[in-house]
Amino acid sequence: MINITKFVSSGRFLPTATVVVAYIAVNQFVDLPNLWYWSTAIWLVLTILLGLQSWGQIFGNFVVRIKHKFNLPSKENYINKSAYILPFTGKWNVYNGGVTKTLSHSWGQIAQRYAYDFIAFDDNGNVFEGGEYDGTANTKPENYFCHGREIIAAADGVVVAVKDKYPDSRTTGLRGFCDAWDIRGNFVVIRHNEGEYSTSAHLLQGSVVVKIGDVVKQGDVVGKCGNSGNSTEPHLHWHLQNGKNFFLSAGLPVIFSEITAEDSKGYALWHEKLGVKTRTSEGNLEILEDKMYIGRGLDVQNKRDISPYN
Ligand SMILES: [Zn+2]
Repeated sequence: MINITKFVSSGRFLPTATVVVAYIAVNQFVDLPNLWYWSTAIWLVLTILLGLQSWGQIFGNFVVRIKHKFNLPSKENYINKSAYILPFTGKWNVYNGGVTKTLSHSWGQIAQRYAYDFIAFDDNGNVFEGGEYDGTANTKPENYFCHGREIIAAADGVVVAVKDKYPDSRTTGLRGFCDAWDIRGNFVVIRHNEGEYSTSAHLLQGSVVVKIGDVVKQGDVVGKCGNSGNSTEPHLHWHLQNGKNFFLSAGLPVIFSEITAEDSKGYALWHEKLGVKTRTSEGNLEILEDKMYIGRGLDVQNKRDISPYN
């Protein structure tokens, strides 16, 4: 079902309203068939259209499971072939995601099973400029610390998909709006090798500096962090998948190279201030020689000073 409030505040309300107004207008001159008949038909078509990505995900999840004979990639059976650094410069926080079911961004969404949502805190556990976050504060996306920060290629590769046309979705407390037809908003997909594709999503409109076919080197800037698509607040959504297609690929666990990770004070403080229980971050760090599996609750950074690239 469509959440009415969410729908009205989304970018999809306008097209629907236009259709309804057009119907009423035309009906003044031509006797159109029964309004209820038409509105139900329009509503049905729109519901199906709006739900397309969810349908795609449900269908895709099923196909992917069969394709992998119900044995999906995991850190027990898969090690990434390319060496990945973090897809940004400076210190960020792993707000969501990890390589276990408990830490997972969304275990049931197979492409995003090992996805990460990265945000940035200041030392006081705030996520945006000006005022404490109390769960109801209404602030603009651009006030968030991570908004506008550069997003880089985590490994060498070729750009295979790009979108850069959606404005930032609005932010209102903990509720998110999707002011775009694509839940990813603006994004860049890089093919790193035959079976490894990274997606950086919710990028800032007009910030993407690569196009399809561009060869990128690890550390090259691809765009900037924004709040486009289905997003509650500015953050970088990043994940690795084994094919190009968002709906028909399986997410891959990533062991990062050349990074540092530590428990985040900001993450704990932020939850404390909000009075929200910190979701368990146990087992959020696994170190294998010089590489790391990371998870929710850590502050992470590349060891190498990647800036000033470009
Ligand atoms: Zn995400």
